[in-house]
Amino acid sequence: MIISVASGKGGTGKTTIATSLALLLGEVQFLDCDVEEPNAHIFLEPHINERISVGIPVPKVDEDKCNFCGRCAEVCEFNAIVVIKKKVLFFPELCHGCGGCSYICPERAIKEKDRAIGVIEKGRSSNIDFIHGILNVGEPMAPPLIRQVKRHINNRTNTIIDASPGTSCPVVEAVRGSDFCVLVTEPTPFGLHDLKLAVEMLRKLAIPIGVVINCADIGDEEVEKYCDNENIPILMTIPWDRKIAEAYSKGIPLIEVLPKFSGSFAQMHTTIEGLVKR
Ligand code: SF4
Ligand code: SF4
Repeated sequence: MIISVASGKGGTGKTTIATSLALLLGEVQFLDCDVEEPNAHIFLEPHINERISVGIPVPKVDEDKCNFCGRCAEVCEFNAIVVIKKKVLFFPELCHGCGGCSYICPERAIKEKDRAIGVIEKGRSSNIDFIHGILNVGEPMAPPLIRQVKRHINNRTNTIIDASPGTSCPVVEAVRGSDFCVLVTEPTPFGLHDLKLAVEMLRKLAIPIGVVINCADIGDEEVEKYCDNENIPILMTIPWDRKIAEAYSKGIPLIEVLPKFSGSFAQMHTTIEGLVKR
């Protein structure tokens, strides 16, 4: 079963929920797909034993062969290639590496070369198989790296995916194909607003969802009312606790600092299994 953990907004405690769930489950695979800011390794402290460079294929135009017909620019949805008179301009940061331009070129003037966008690191943390992607600084192309991280999913075991916060393309790429998505939120107007956006996205992807309310006693009851009206199960509520906040700042997982929550995480996993089988 693949369980992704996401949140409409940052700072809700998503990673502490994801890492605690992984620690509770034991023999499990953990994928940190928050490639712009991966931090699950701080909580799980894996021993990294493999590093793989990841690139995307980008065009390289041979102007000796090019007749400047402009077909490559017409086919590029991302305006990454532009033909001006007798010049082909290429903007690598806009290129999604789709290969459309080289496919369409009538003169076979375009070859592809890899442009590095980041790395994947694999390792082990006690009985957790750990994999994360690290996007190069300033690199905008997170989805291709996330796809490469997800190619390491082992279908014979349980997988936990930590997605980035928000509802943009990297999040869609991270949660796509999950059997279930846990949405972590806070009971505040901002939390509710961003939760609604995340719910909308996951419903479009037809992924079953449940909600964890973190800092459950600091806000109002609007998140609970919304979940009730929308028939979204609340999987767990976690009260605000200084010990949790301190542990987070030190990179200590929630169930290590407050083991009494182990039962709640186990119950959450049982509930998710039941909801997936339904
Ligand atoms: S499609 Fe090929 S030949 Fe035409 S402008 Fe682009 S690179 Fe040149
Ligand atoms: S590979 Fe795709 S995105 Fe990149 S320049 Fe060619 S058509 Fe555009």
